[in-house]
Amino acid sequence: MPIGDPVNRYIYDLFKYDTHVSFEFFPPKTNQGRKQIYQSIAKLKDMNPDFFSVTYGAGGTTAETSLEIATALTNLAQVTCVAHITCVGMNRSEVKSLLELLEFHGITNVLALRGDPPQGQTEFVKPDDGFAYASELVSFIRDNSNMGILVAGYPEGHKDNPDKEDDFKHLLEKINAGANGIITQLFFDNRYLLDFSNRLKGAGVDIPVIAGIFPISNGKQIQRITELSGATIPDDLLAAIEKYGDSPTEMELIGTDYAVKQVTELLEAGITHFHFYTMNRHDQTRKILYQLKHYFPRLNFV
Ligand code: FAD
Repeated sequence: MPIGDPVNRYIYDLFKYDTHVSFEFFPPKTNQGRKQIYQSIAKLKDMNPDFFSVTYGAGGTTAETSLEIATALTNLAQVTCVAHITCVGMNRSEVKSLLELLEFHGITNVLALRGDPPQGQTEFVKPDDGFAYASELVSFIRDNSNMGILVAGYPEGHKDNPDKEDDFKHLLEKINAGANGIITQLFFDNRYLLDFSNRLKGAGVDIPVIAGIFPISNGKQIQRITELSGATIPDDLLAAIEKYGDSPTEMELIGTDYAVKQVTELLEAGITHFHFYTMNRHDQTRKILYQLKHYFPRLNFV
């Protein structure tokens, strides 16, 4: 498949470009949510991003809807899709069947994750004949498919592992198992991302680090998300959230300006790959990228 063809591209081909932009969606739970995501797909697809990714809920709870969205992206919207898959609740043969199903639907890339424990469980439990860590899932996918493989990276360290050095060592294990790229957890303090990127370079890693950018639009939501992810909020941003958190209009303007500033600083420091956590919306991400369009000549804004 030529690199110019928008469908069925392998992510490692896309990384040949100088800059990169991709968008993340999650499977909707309601009909209203379904309407919103399809509107967003239509709008964001026209911008010509490199790929879209679709999350996969704890314990496969969203398996059907995740597949619906990934299939629609690939076969209707005709864009490259990365399907997230986790180790939760699946044995080897079930993972193999899922990979075959994805390939049958034309999906050529996955983000291989361990996953979080399903609701009501505090710790991840390795399924019988399944995988305990994402690195094991990556090896299995490499051995059993031709998929392009991304893995998750945590600039501030993963929340379950207080030993940051050990956590970094395990990240290298999953990269060495055959990953083609790393998408990072959201972060608001660029110093963590730059340090993370330098440590990876220092360890000889040459696959791309795709910086995960979260456009803030809501004060309460950002508190919840930072609690879950453990991301540090810089003081100036925190002060703005405290002051304007109850005003959606102000919050969205602050979030848009912050993301523009964050991406500009990263670009100037040599980071060129960006993944936007769109929350299934299109308007704010589009506004942010419009302000940055001279950096991303392959994006389309007509
Ligand atoms: P791993 O890389 O396996 O690491 C998990 C923990 O185990 C870490 O603390 C690590 O230090 C430790 N560890 C790893 N290997 C070993 C070892 N050999 N021995 C001992 N300890 C080890 N979750 C979902 O459920 N669905 C999604 O769609 C989803 N999408 C995501 C997208 C991105 C970009 C990111 C950053 C996260 C996403 N998550 C998703 C969340 C993710 O599943 C959780 O953060 C999960 O807790 C860890 O997954 P992982 O793949 O990073 O795990």
